[in-house]
Amino acid sequence: MIIAIDGPAGAGKSTVAKILAKKLGFLYIDTGAMYRALTLKVLERNIPINDEPRIIQLSQGVKIDLRDNLDGPLTVILDGEDVSLAIRKARITRFVSDVAKIKQVRQVLVKMQRKFGQKRNCVLDGRDIGTVVFPRAQKKFFIDASAGVRVKRRFQELIGLGQKVTENEVAKDLTNRDKIDSTRQASPLRQAPEAIYIDTTDLSIEQVVEKMFNLCKLSRT
Ligand code: C5P
Repeated sequence: MIIAIDGPAGAGKSTVAKILAKKLGFLYIDTGAMYRALTLKVLERNIPINDEPRIIQLSQGVKIDLRDNLDGPLTVILDGEDVSLAIRKARITRFVSDVAKIKQVRQVLVKMQRKFGQKRNCVLDGRDIGTVVFPRAQKKFFIDASAGVRVKRRFQELIGLGQKVTENEVAKDLTNRDKIDSTRQASPLRQAPEAIYIDTTDLSIEQVVEKMFNLCKLSRT
């Protein structure tokens, strides 16, 4: 069974996706972490962010692995190296949408995501899971929240990771990424017609997970 979760940045997708996966005993796949890992490699190699041919070539040779530790944060392995923390840095966040908008890059990463999904029951979160990666997913959700709440949540998350950011910087980043992610030509952020829309603005994490869990249980029976 595949559960697809899409939505804009900072809506809380990855938090609820991880808890939901654990409750269901499913594998959790954070597809954003994969685009972030590739972006890290691009920046490490000093490849200019507008050099699409080199970025495409690089994407075709990387190996990205995700290890879902049940209690801790997800471990992201890029070509054998643990980059779980490095991919959350502001510099990566700033450029990730420019890398993710390249069609051929998406083709490579989507292929990896489908492979993960073929092996086991999975919960995947991203921007195009229900529309492109797994259009036949048994359950699809579109998780949203007001812009103000998304900024606050992402700000708290980054402070929790020990990063020095201001709410203003976070707001700018979210606006910029959402604009690129929803206006790009290749698989823009869209709600799949059959996806269940959940506005999490006034809901706690537990309430969102509970709602999703009950809906997933219904479709398994
Ligand atoms: O989910 P997260 O905010 O970590 O994703 C980082 C970026 O990766 C997004 O802003 C988007 O540009 C890209 N992304 C994507 N498609 C996905 C997941 C993430 O384009 N399925």
